Amino acid sequence: MAPPKHIAIVGGGTAGWMTANLLRHRWARLGVDVTLIESADIGTIGVGEGSTPFLRHFFRTLGIEERDWMPACDATFKSSIRFPGWSTVAGYESYVHPFFSEADRELGNLFFTNACLRRRGQAADANPRDFFLAAELARQRRAPLGTDYAYHFDAGKLGAFLRTHAVGLGVRHIVDTVARVELRENGDIAAVHMKSGARVDADLFVDCSGFKGLLITETLGEPFLSYRDNLFNDRAIAIPTPLVDGEDIPCETVSTALRHGWAWQIPLTTRYGNGYVYSSDFVSDDEAERELREQVGAAAEGATARRLRMRVGCVKQHWRQNCVAIGLAQGFIEPLEATALMLIQLSVEQFIAAMEGGEFERRQQDAFNRRVSEMFEGVRDYVVAHYQLNTRRDTDYWRANRANKNISDRLASLLDVWDRGGDFEAELERHGAKLMYLRPSWYCLFAGMGRFPAELRAAPQAVTAAVARQSLANMARAFRSHHRCLMGE
Ligand SMILES: Cc1cc2nc3c(=O)[nH]c(=O)nc-3n(C[C@H](O)[C@H](O)[C@H](O)COP(=O)(O)OP(=O)(O)OC[C@H]3O[C@@H](n4cnc5c(N)ncnc54)[C@H](O)[C@@H]3O)c2cc1C
Repeated sequence: MAPPKHIAIVGGGTAGWMTANLLRHRWARLGVDVTLIESADIGTIGVGEGSTPFLRHFFRTLGIEERDWMPACDATFKSSIRFPGWSTVAGYESYVHPFFSEADRELGNLFFTNACLRRRGQAADANPRDFFLAAELARQRRAPLGTDYAYHFDAGKLGAFLRTHAVGLGVRHIVDTVARVELRENGDIAAVHMKSGARVDADLFVDCSGFKGLLITETLGEPFLSYRDNLFNDRAIAIPTPLVDGEDIPCETVSTALRHGWAWQIPLTTRYGNGYVYSSDFVSDDEAERELREQVGAAAEGATARRLRMRVGCVKQHWRQNCVAIGLAQGFIEPLEATALMLIQLSVEQFIAAMEGGEFERRQQDAFNRRVSEMFEGVRDYVVAHYQLNTRRDTDYWRANRANKNISDRLASLLDVWDRGGDFEAELERHGAKLMYLRPSWYCLFAGMGRFPAELRAAPQAVTAAVARQSLANMARAFRSHHRCLMGE
């Protein structure tokens, strides 16, 4: 395989523009040309408002400062995700998945100790919201600057910002619709033909065309591995609402369990993004919209709802022939942990590393495909674990999720070791990087859902939640108000 001199990206959603920026930034000095084609007739998905901390590395790589992109995208800081209503265990009805930082070392270790005590039947406090700084910053609405934070943003505005930046780097931008794909005899893509009659050829094509996978699936016929057996949700409804007058802007995502899925609430500087992710096997679209409107309350009155379908799973090979799929075209895991942009970024970074390290051999392509599939499976398992651990009894949806036996051997083994009071640390280590999520995230999820024995004995040495909370409250007071920080005060 020869190194690419000209790369054509089909699709101008977040995936297309993130990819264009990263490839052009990295390879412009090698004389690699990048063209991005997007259709004026086919819109972008227009949702995707939360990130993981990886997005900070993305902007840092490109040398873009927060003060330049955040105001342009109505962005806010994100310290954590809160999950009300997933568990019914007393004291664990709402837990927090924090982003971790150095400041968590001491109380974090006490949390791990307490979680282990409780797992083995001792009455130690072990709800992560009482032990991690990010949870306290969210409670006090303080900007998590100085910790490992993430962002919320307007997806459309982020796309527009990245477009301007990419064009500034020299990416050629074509607005036209691909009508036909021309193949070479060896099965590679030779060129794409536009509705306007133009033809664009390239050495390498990146499929960022969204759920349909115009190049990777529709043209090359790469099989799609559905996660439907693992993750039931296949629909979403989104409703924006205004901010509450006089309220300080929060710095957390709230993901509340509803009757047939969960609802997100994401704060931006100009509005809230709200949405409901649910399964069409359990509820109709109309009923789901009613449920979401009820959850959002008066603010949703008169607001237009957008209904979306989700294809959950990923292609078997993310790089096939001379085509790499990135973004929704490569796959999607429902947005519970807001991982899609992270997977886009990591996939492109892996691709760059494979290209640069591999003298463009087939071996590198296989290694890339293995690693990207592992990343998807790792994220999938972490998301599936939320459903396995839920304790709701109110609907068939939650009962079926809990009873679902279609989980990976790896997740089954993690659950088993945790429940037996076995060596959870060793089990996490055994799976290593394939887990995608690190030790604190797994502890926070299992403990946060209250996955502990019902019968508990006293644990005299355990640090109580009250003591931990007091210590957090003192630490958090040193941080600036999130609202004032966003307003530049
Ligand atoms: C309900 C929901 C919530 C989500 N929440 C999050 C979140 O919180 N965090 C997160 O990271 N991600 C989230 N995502 C995922 C995120 O929205 C996407 O991963 C991201 O926007 C990238 O989308 P994309 O660019 O792959 O596809 P799209 O936005 O669908 O873009 C596809 C592009 O392809 C172009 N195109 C298609 N066909 C043609 C053609 N024939 N010719 C030319 N151009 C063509 C279109 O014009 C468009 O520009 C969410 C997704 C959903 C469904």
